[in-house]
Amino acid sequence: MSTSTQNRDESASGLKQKQSVSTSAVQPGRSFRIGGEANYKGWVAKAAKQPMLLETVDLGPLGAEDVEVAVEHCGLCHSDLSVWNNEWGVSQYPAVLGHEVTGRVTAVGPNAKRLEVGQRVGVGWGSGSCMHCHQCMSGSHHLCPQVQATIVGHRGGFATHIRSHWAWAFPLPEKLNSAEAGPLLCGGVTVFAPLVMYAKPTQRVGIIGIGGLGHMAVKFAAAYGCHVTAFTSSESKFDEAKSFGANQVTSSRDSAAIKKLGGSFDLLISTVNVKLDWDAMIGTLAPNGRLHVVGAVLEPIPVSAFSLIMQQRRPSGSPIASPVTIETMLDFASRHNVAPQTEHFPMSNINEAFARLESGKARYRIVLDADFPSA
Ligand SMILES: [Zn+2]
Ligand SMILES: [Zn+2]
Repeated sequence: MSTSTQNRDESASGLKQKQSVSTSAVQPGRSFRIGGEANYKGWVAKAAKQPMLLETVDLGPLGAEDVEVAVEHCGLCHSDLSVWNNEWGVSQYPAVLGHEVTGRVTAVGPNAKRLEVGQRVGVGWGSGSCMHCHQCMSGSHHLCPQVQATIVGHRGGFATHIRSHWAWAFPLPEKLNSAEAGPLLCGGVTVFAPLVMYAKPTQRVGIIGIGGLGHMAVKFAAAYGCHVTAFTSSESKFDEAKSFGANQVTSSRDSAAIKKLGGSFDLLISTVNVKLDWDAMIGTLAPNGRLHVVGAVLEPIPVSAFSLIMQQRRPSGSPIASPVTIETMLDFASRHNVAPQTEHFPMSNINEAFARLESGKARYRIVLDADFPSA
């Protein structure tokens, strides 16, 4: 997820991509297209919290470096809900949400690299970046000041087709199931990235919040070799957290139980967007331990200087990950059989699926299966 407000697109509608070329500039053959623009349909929200309606959408000409993907499945992430509700104040309407896409390439711009029509790919939170700034040239494209969020000023994946810069469309390893791989592309890599950045397989890791992100974090951390403690407010998730690979489970609402874990963790990854007993949580960090935040809690997290100073602890955060880290994650997930636990809805039940997510009852990630009527 990300809260970036920067878009490649400065047009009034905010929906046409920069770098687009006229269709006549697109080379025949490589830019082969299945279907015409009239066939593009998407689930459109006209304004914040408005039910999504199926409409024909105009994706415009294909960018020279872009690819087009026919959507087969698309995960439903909490960030879709936040953007739909304009909780971060960055939403642009009409909006087509959805940023955990799997599907097949249907068109390739003349300057796009490595992807072929028919190839199975995934697209996540990001679908483009400038490719020439310091961050892009360093391999940290996700920190590019112009990074294109897939669902802000760009059409997302609750649609027949999605467009992406070629570098942000990731070939799916053969072993990954298209129907289940979508949630890896945003939620999965968001928790995978801090593990590979900051944890060693010999270390103790705590995962705070066992929901869409947290349950994948437990699976990744266990597969990575870490000792894993799950923190959840829901006792009904204790057994499932263990089945995902947690060595132990603690209630995130039980300050006394949390305090008993004082000085334990080399890395805590917080996936929650609610207030917790942060003092107690930071107290569970070992010397040199890190509290890493990937859940977009809107209230500030209070941190006392002494709790950091005396044990050399540090707080940090990160949005999704670089394209290379996303590919590394897909390879790791494929080799270690890491997949989200999902509930599937036909995409035509999108409004029901959003209500299910909003209710907090989803176990653990919702995936919408494309079921557009053929034109
Ligand atoms: Zn997301
Ligand atoms: Zn850049």
